[in-house]
Amino acid sequence: MSKHEIRLLVADSNHPNLEIIKKTLTAFDDTSYTISSANSWKKVSTMISEGDVDILLLEHNMKPKKGEGILDQICRNKKGGVPVIIIVPEGKEEIGVKSLDRGVYDYLTREEIDTVALSRAVRGALKRIELEKNVKESLAKLEKMAIRDGLTGLYNHHHFKEVMVNEFKKAQRHMQPLSCIMLDLDHFKNVNDTHGHQFGDAVLVQAADILKKIVRDTDFVARYGGEEFFIILPNTSVNGAYILAERIRVAFANHIFNKADISATVTTSVGLSSLYDENVVSHDDLIANADKALYRAKWRGRNNVCSFDDSESGERVRIKEETGKIEDFYDRLEKLNDSIKETCVMSAHTILRDIVGDWDFVNEHSLRVCDYVDRLTKALSMSDNDRNVIRRAAMVHDIGMAGINIRILKKSGKLTNREYTLVKRHSNIGVKIMEKTKLLDRELPLILYHHERFDGTGYPHKLKGDTIPFGARIIAIAEAYDVMVSTNTYSKTRSVQEALKELKKASGSQFDPHLVKTFIHAVEKHPPA
Ligand code: GH3
Ligand code: MG
Ligand code: MG
Repeated sequence: MSKHEIRLLVADSNHPNLEIIKKTLTAFDDTSYTISSANSWKKVSTMISEGDVDILLLEHNMKPKKGEGILDQICRNKKGGVPVIIIVPEGKEEIGVKSLDRGVYDYLTREEIDTVALSRAVRGALKRIELEKNVKESLAKLEKMAIRDGLTGLYNHHHFKEVMVNEFKKAQRHMQPLSCIMLDLDHFKNVNDTHGHQFGDAVLVQAADILKKIVRDTDFVARYGGEEFFIILPNTSVNGAYILAERIRVAFANHIFNKADISATVTTSVGLSSLYDENVVSHDDLIANADKALYRAKWRGRNNVCSFDDSESGERVRIKEETGKIEDFYDRLEKLNDSIKETCVMSAHTILRDIVGDWDFVNEHSLRVCDYVDRLTKALSMSDNDRNVIRRAAMVHDIGMAGINIRILKKSGKLTNREYTLVKRHSNIGVKIMEKTKLLDRELPLILYHHERFDGTGYPHKLKGDTIPFGARIIAIAEAYDVMVSTNTYSKTRSVQEALKELKKASGSQFDPHLVKTFIHAVEKHPPA
């Protein structure tokens, strides 16, 4: 046990005789004690939260009812808490035993305070807290070992896979780019054969250091296997990844690897893949594509960067040299795509009007929801591209109503359970209809999930929180707001302020709280005409 001074706090509503306690403790060992007292829970809490207490000696009579919550906090504090020894009257030992279940370390009868039992309990409690601290440190070390590679300190293969799965889902959900870099050191077998495995190991450690230094904080670098590394680059386009990959290649080519009196140069080959490569439907495709690109880089003579795109088309122009022209081409095609999609969405409305006849609510409602979506996505500073996707989805979010009986749609008053079940199918029907165009792949999930609720009780799939696509969470708010402030057969019309109040009330349960806040701010700043 450490020799430092032990700070003991005696909590007692009467005035405890601290001198007797001190005398008892020091009579049996040479530890030095500072003993103070507190006659209120407030003082106890303050002293503990200020870190002034190593051990608490608690007289059980000290207003137990009021103090129980605080006692739990003291004992069960996640950071370890302060050990508590409770003092009970003779014959009331069962109170002490029950206290042990609440996390109290030990109990003593009042008579034992003057005996060796006090010293034993105090030392026992201190020993136990020291052991608990050791266990916690060991667990933290084990946790670290479970995700890190022992040699390089980079993430290991297992953890890399977990991160990959998550980042892939995240990028898909938020419609953000994601790129990967796979590296394999060139002729590493020769390095081992020529300079020995120990030098080979030193090269791997230094290679990891180079990678850690070059990447951003938000990137994940892992040791994929032997002399292969993998970098996951969230929110990075393939062009951005290419620039980074070239930087890495050059850094390796210019580095002299050293250990003791041995030095050598080791180059690396690099393969790139991106979420937007043609064939990508799962995270495994991203890995396989990076691997293929890496193989191509080796084939080209090593010390080379190759993207999957590049490797697929053989000797297609190097992206690096023709970036300007290709980007221009992409831009123009993107614009063409956008205008085709707009036409498609507007035509869908014309068809809907044709089929549903004089029921115009869906059309007008959709236009207004688009307007609210626009305000919210602008306030969120989203890119034009993402804003267009959400706006188009908003325009057709209720298109599935075409498949619902018009009598139900026009019904005033409450729907029966059966009718409501039918109406709920409009999200699925909407996707089925718009799928036919084969154009709106990014808009479809937003149509499907615009009735999911943030707390996971919505439909059709009971998605929860940020597993609901971002755009669908935006449309949900815009749609609910419009239904509240417009004249319709479902519900009474509310004023702007009433509707905003309702949104606030449902924030966190029905709606994404962050988005509700931004929406309210946007509407209050520019109230609808
Ligand atoms: P290439 O340019 O085609 O990649 O050639 P290479 O020699 O690097 O290819 P290969 O994959 O055949 O060899 C990889 C070598 O990496 C073989 C293996 O002994 C070595 N290696 C794998 N893991 C370690 C390690 O932890 N330490 C050391 N020193 N060597 C390792
Ligand atoms: Mg290899
Ligand atoms: Mg190799």
